[in-house]
Amino acid sequence: MNRKGILVVVSGFSGVGKGTLMKLLTERYGQYALSISATTRSPRAGEEDGREYFFRTREAFEELIANDQLVEYAEYCGNYYGTPREYVESQMEQGRDVILEIELQGALKIKKKFPKALLLFIVPPDAKTLLDRLRGRNTETEDVIQKRLARAAEESEGIEQYDYIIVNDDLEQSMELMHHLIESQHNKTDRNLAFIHQIQEEVREFVKGEK
Ligand code: 5GP
Repeated sequence: MNRKGILVVVSGFSGVGKGTLMKLLTERYGQYALSISATTRSPRAGEEDGREYFFRTREAFEELIANDQLVEYAEYCGNYYGTPREYVESQMEQGRDVILEIELQGALKIKKKFPKALLLFIVPPDAKTLLDRLRGRNTETEDVIQKRLARAAEESEGIEQYDYIIVNDDLEQSMELMHHLIESQHNKTDRNLAFIHQIQEEVREFVKGEK
C-alpha cells in the first residue's frame, strides 16, 4: 500500500489544548512530524526560537513570502504566521504524516493546494471551558484574551469546512481518535489506486489460470 505522508491540518480555538494534544501524539507515535511555523509575534515566556516557532521580524517574514518559502501564511490578531515549505515537503517524501497546527485561513489555503489533506478541528466540550483554559494559561493580557475570543467566534463559522471535529474532553482519548482518523485516511481507496489495480490484475490472472 501507499504509505506516502499525509498532510494533516489541525485547527482549534486558542486555549483548546492543541499544543498538548500534538505533543502527546508525536511522543506516542513515530510516524508524525510537527511543522514549526514562522511568526512575527513575540515569544511567550518559556518559548524558544526554533522550538515553538521561528520568531522573525516583519521584514524577514516578508522576505520568506517573496521567496516563496512558505506553503501558506495568514495574519492572526495583528501578526503573520506561516508554514515553511522545505520541511513539509521533505518529511512527506520520507513517508511521515506532517501536522500543521494553523488557523482557519491557512487551513483553507492548504485544502485548495492539497485537496487530499485531512482537516481536523479541535473544539472544547463547551465555551466556558475555553475561557477558563485561556485565562488559566496566564500568558496573555486581558486585551489579547478578548481579541482571541473574538477570533474564536469568527473561526467557529468555518468549522463545517473541516473533515472532522474532535471534542477535547479527555486528552488521551482525543489523541487516539486523531491517530485513528489519520490512519483511516491512509486506507482511502483514492490514495491507493496503484495497489488496488495490482490486486485486481493479480485476481484476474489467477482466475484465468484456474480455467
Ligand atoms: P499562537 O499565537 O497562539 O501560538 O497562535 C495563534 C494562531 O496562529 C493559532 O490558531 C495557530 O494555530 C495559528 N498558527 C500557527 N502557526 C501558523 C501558520 O504557520 N500558519 C497559519 N495560517 N496559522 C498558524
